[in-house]
Amino acid sequence: MAGIFVFSEDPALARQLLTPGLELKAALGQPLVALTQSPAEAQALAGLGADRVIVLKGAGTPEALAPAVASLVAQAGVVLVGGTLRGKHLAAHVAAALKAGLTTDAKTLRAEGGRLETTRILYGGLAVCEESLALPAVATVPQRTFLPPAPAGAAAAVETIDVAADARVEVLSSTPVAGEGVDIGAATRLVSVGRGFGARADLDLAVDLAGALKAELACTRGIAEDEHWLPVERYIGISGQTVKPELYVAAGLSGQVQHMVGCRESKIIVAINKDERAPIFEAADYGIVGDLYTVLPLLTAALKA
Ligand SMILES: Cc1cc2nc3c(=O)[nH]c(=O)nc-3n(C[C@H](O)[C@H](O)[C@H](O)COP(=O)(O)OP(=O)(O)OC[C@H]3O[C@@H](n4cnc5c(N)ncnc54)[C@H](O)[C@@H]3O)c2cc1C
Repeated sequence: MAGIFVFSEDPALARQLLTPGLELKAALGQPLVALTQSPAEAQALAGLGADRVIVLKGAGTPEALAPAVASLVAQAGVVLVGGTLRGKHLAAHVAAALKAGLTTDAKTLRAEGGRLETTRILYGGLAVCEESLALPAVATVPQRTFLPPAPAGAAAAVETIDVAADARVEVLSSTPVAGEGVDIGAATRLVSVGRGFGARADLDLAVDLAGALKAELACTRGIAEDEHWLPVERYIGISGQTVKPELYVAAGLSGQVQHMVGCRESKIIVAINKDERAPIFEAADYGIVGDLYTVLPLLTAALKA
């Protein structure tokens, strides 16, 4: 069937994909079809502007459903897949089956002249790659690139299709990754710490500020991976989390590009650094040149006053 297809096994990402999906639908004049493995999620997608929602009924991981998905989207104009590890696996299979071009981690998507024009970030944010794909095209889209669309007036019909999983893939067991369970990406305010902190105990200064701001604590890679002062799910950057909070307070971190690529789309960035030449000040909306050991307690006290 012809159409713009979207799929992600991550419910939040699946909803976000509908936003570029709706834009492509308008440009290409093809129906927007949301695929999901979750009947509960199907109802949510049906109310967000999809023309059709199809529940893929069949036991299997998303990537094991790739052959079935590929045959379902055989006439697709564009297939958008959530850019998780599993999503990228699925997207590669689908693109190969369709003999279609594939772009990963697309930040912008536009249909023009019968092609899909995309951009993605390269070299940790130092370059933007523009790609032009003939249709049909497959693209993966990272988490939080788009906001989900506003609820639509009428809900789409939900259909269920039996699909066969690739028999060569068998999940024998699965164990959730042990962690704090904190979702940094969902936080609207973050206080992020770097190597300007001299000792683990000093992070209490940031914890206090985060408490006063009702913010979550985040960090640079060195704090998580080298010092092990905070868990890895709290570090931001090219090899860590990508966040888009309303407020990002960067304390005692230099603002190297590998870090900033994960937070530069924050709405407001506040930097506290004792080196006025620190790169973080180039990205900051507000900057305080000063010693964090002096500045953080003053900020916390002012917020609590
Ligand atoms: C392939 C690759 C991938 C990477 N991926 C990531 C990633 O995903 N995320 C990430 O964060 N990094 C990543 N890095 C590392 C990155 O390049 C930087 O080294 C790192 O982000 C710097 O961390 P930092 O800002 O905590 O430390 P530093 O760069 O050492 O900066 C510390 C800052 O604290 C300031 N400071 C010191 N004392 C005080 C004080 N008392 N008061 C106020 N300010 C003070 C200093 O002026 C300095 O600017 C990656 C690197 C590579 C090569």
